[in-house]
Amino acid sequence: MTRPSTAAETALGRKRRARKMARVLADTHPDAHCELDFTDPLELAVATILSAQTTDVRVNQVTPRLFRKYRTAPDYAGADRAEMEEILRPTGFFRAKTNSLIGLGQALLERHDGQIPGKLDELVKLPGIGRKTANVVLGNAFGVPGITVDTHFRRLTNRFGWVDEQDEVKIEFLVADMIEKRDWTMLSHRVIFHGRRVCHARTPACGACTLAALCPSYGTGPTEAAPAAKLLKGPRARELAVAAGVSPDLVPGVSPGPVPGNDASVPENDA
Ligand code: SF4
Repeated sequence: MTRPSTAAETALGRKRRARKMARVLADTHPDAHCELDFTDPLELAVATILSAQTTDVRVNQVTPRLFRKYRTAPDYAGADRAEMEEILRPTGFFRAKTNSLIGLGQALLERHDGQIPGKLDELVKLPGIGRKTANVVLGNAFGVPGITVDTHFRRLTNRFGWVDEQDEVKIEFLVADMIEKRDWTMLSHRVIFHGRRVCHARTPACGACTLAALCPSYGTGPTEAAPAAKLLKGPRARELAVAAGVSPDLVPGVSPGPVPGNDASVPENDA
């Protein structure tokens, strides 16, 4: 397989290719979903704030205890700082995160009757919540389509040749122009799943990737089936190999549960 060239690609050609890749991603990752555990908008906002600079797996280990103790905005607003810091310590940056959560509780009480608002412009004014967190909350707790540009989304959309841009807000708007609005939230999950399981930061599994024929960065990682299949991660690694036309027997071992390569999210201010 040769690397597809995008040198002479028109804006319309890029949009068509992007939509085709989005459909392949939908087939490749039917299990894509928000990997943070939550039951309501407040819990999701809190979990997303905690996910800065750590893994979703680590956040999910901490939140059951946190959510048992703090159930409402007043609980966060009136929290004992030392107690909350102790719970948040495993997520890193626990003092700053404690500040954000107490500030969030206070701001929700002052401005929104203790409820998480369902609008982007109101969400981004809350402590600890930037565009990325706001879009996660909108898309997954309110059903409002949102594009979540995290470290994976930024890396992959550049590799896909959808954008040539590092600014997260600009990437969000560029991709929004290419992909139908109703698909924004799920596209975000699928791109992030692909980034965690196939298209890794250091060595992507190009030779075992369902997007190979459409990706101008094909060849960034090994293109032969055997070394590429070894790079596939997650409980569906064998299925990912089959989807890419590679023998599942080349996938060494399957680890159920969390994805080993579930690396840290980009903090809100890392634009
Ligand atoms: S793994 Fe390789 S072919 Fe697949 S999306 Fe990433 S860079 Fe492109």
